[in-house]
Amino acid sequence: MTVSSAIRALVEYAVREGLIDALDKVWAVNRLLEVMSLDSIDGDESVENASLEDILKVLLDDACSRGVCEDSIVYRDLFDTRLMGAITPRPSEVIREFNALYSESPEKATEYYYHVSRKSDYIREYRIKNDVKWITPTEYGDIDITINLSKPEKDPKAIAAALKMKQSSYPLCMLCPENEGYAGRVNHPARQNHRVIPLDLDGEAWCLQYSPYVYYNEHCIVFDSIHQPMKISEKGFRRLFAIVKKFPHYFVGSNADLPIVGGSVLTHDHFQGGNYTFAMAKAPVETPVEFKNYPGVSGGIVKWPMSVLRLIGDDTDEICTLAGEILAKWRGYTDEDAFIFAETDGVPHNTITPIARFRDGMFELDLVLRNNITTEEFPDGVYHPHPQHHHIKKENIGLIEVMGLAVLPSRLKTEMAILRDAMVSGADISADERISKHTEWAQEIMASNNVTAENCEKILQDEIGKVFADILGQCGVYDRNEQGKRQFLKFVDYVNN
Ligand SMILES: [Zn+2]
Repeated sequence: MTVSSAIRALVEYAVREGLIDALDKVWAVNRLLEVMSLDSIDGDESVENASLEDILKVLLDDACSRGVCEDSIVYRDLFDTRLMGAITPRPSEVIREFNALYSESPEKATEYYYHVSRKSDYIREYRIKNDVKWITPTEYGDIDITINLSKPEKDPKAIAAALKMKQSSYPLCMLCPENEGYAGRVNHPARQNHRVIPLDLDGEAWCLQYSPYVYYNEHCIVFDSIHQPMKISEKGFRRLFAIVKKFPHYFVGSNADLPIVGGSVLTHDHFQGGNYTFAMAKAPVETPVEFKNYPGVSGGIVKWPMSVLRLIGDDTDEICTLAGEILAKWRGYTDEDAFIFAETDGVPHNTITPIARFRDGMFELDLVLRNNITTEEFPDGVYHPHPQHHHIKKENIGLIEVMGLAVLPSRLKTEMAILRDAMVSGADISADERISKHTEWAQEIMASNNVTAENCEKILQDEIGKVFADILGQCGVYDRNEQGKRQFLKFVDYVNN
């Protein structure tokens, strides 16, 4: 594919995917020439059905060969985003189309916007498809596992360049609305192809976008138009339902607002949602509970390794008032026997990870009780993955994991491949520093399974799933036994009285 035919192919792609109109073709060719620092285009042939990845590769390689773009991953990502930005509709056009479709149905609106987010390459689909995914059945249902490989790799050239750069506070963070259309820097991704949908949540200005890393179908982020910190509150619960009412086909939840049990971005208030049913949503109420003063709300303790109270009702106002009361009581709750301390040395520990959804004509709010206390034995957190499992995962258990999707570090893909070979060939796992941390675990697996070249990968996947379910149990503030259930119900009594 020549550079000229790649440019034409990219314009054809943009027309085919509805990013630009056929009337925009000449203009689009000239925009792309400008980004490529070229002053003319040859011939008139395009390339039928070339993939976006192949088209961009031709253009990137050419730009790098002429010194228009530095040849390393971060610079290439900045450059191809600039190319895609030239053929992405303006924000106002996307918003107008979204709103027009919304008046037909919310599904049509999100379907269109998700399409634009993918086809503009804001979501890099050809990278997402490299993610490793599987499902492990457990007593709590089918747990989803993903090894995420689509986040940008480390780029030594860009890291060196970033060190020499002046600190910038524009945009203030990755979630600020100022990212829309931003050219990016070596230490901040380019977003010329990024479009944001404004949302009115009961009179407040919020915004909708998709996650560029889509951990699950239509993984969206709803974020405050103002850069202010995460805060779990009754008002936040009301916002969750305002979103669910706008998009009844989406669940939406929030990370907790304390370190260790929260997500990676605590500085900009946001929610995450999407069109996906996680194992936790399918998990039934195991112990029904009555909420005094709230006759319209039913629910109870959910059969899930973490400690979850589900509130079900048709009146979201009643659900949110009760949830606000539960939150306030939980924040101040101490039960020494259950090793729950509201605070130590004035530092608060209790918070909630909430998830809202609309199902079978009823609204549901799952309140996952969280506590971030640390001890000498568990310096990373008592209700956090314990050290025995750190060879698989030591990162925070945030909203997505709470719901039953393990997002595992990319290192595991290589490690599991090496480990599989070692387990099958009988090599000394402890002698290989790349995988020695898995030694004990691998030996246990080999002791209880007849590992062969054929079944080893599947066995490892299932065992990782079991480790993750166990991790979720460690993050639950109440144990899954009779004593834990009594302690959980003691808290419910405290709420009721
Ligand atoms: Zn921000």
